[in-house]
Amino acid sequence: MKGNGLLVVISGPAGAGKGTVVRELLKNGDLEVSVSATTRAPRAGEEDGVHYHFLTREQFIDMKEHDGFLEYAEYCGNFYGSPKKQAEEWMAEGKDVILEIEVQGCQKIKAKNPDCVSIFIMPPSMEVLEKRLRGRGTETEDVIVRRMARAREEIALAKDYDYIVVNGPIEECVADVLSVLRAEKLRADRFREEIL
Ligand code: 5GP
Repeated sequence: MKGNGLLVVISGPAGAGKGTVVRELLKNGDLEVSVSATTRAPRAGEEDGVHYHFLTREQFIDMKEHDGFLEYAEYCGNFYGSPKKQAEEWMAEGKDVILEIEVQGCQKIKAKNPDCVSIFIMPPSMEVLEKRLRGRGTETEDVIVRRMARAREEIALAKDYDYIVVNGPIEECVADVLSVLRAEKLRADRFREEIL
């Protein structure tokens, strides 16, 4: 992957504000964001092909069997996967690609792409996380309880990421992530093939 764009994995519990961070990054940096496929039903306001590619379970399994994903995982009863083709094309063009995915997906990406940069977006506290999840007003109580339980499991795995960035004030969080990406671009081992 040397000489190509960075493969950047951004994870964090639902409600940590990953979506907002990624949207701000797109405004500030020269980045592309991968649109995942999912079997989850669209939420109000979500558009097919923009927020996700919404697939049936059969379509998802078919894509998986045709080696269409960089990674995929099951999360709270639904499948989610990062389509391979578009991400590989962007990286081959030297673009940095963001995958906004959960922790199992990150583990799979790291195993296959040790050069990737993994960043865990940490909520400032569990209270803030629950408030943000409830504030969306899009989830049932059952889903909120499951997502809070999953959040605790995910936070326990944050130590396996390359970087942890706390999402308090959004501007600070975005500035921290951009600093990480800038520093990663300047790592000597990313230049080695050009210099030697
Ligand atoms: P949500 O249903 O809230 O949109 O997403 C639930 C979780 O799935 C989030 O943690 C999100 O980052 C993760 N996710 C979204 N797309 C993918 C994907 O392509 N692969 C994996 N492994 N997780 C994903």
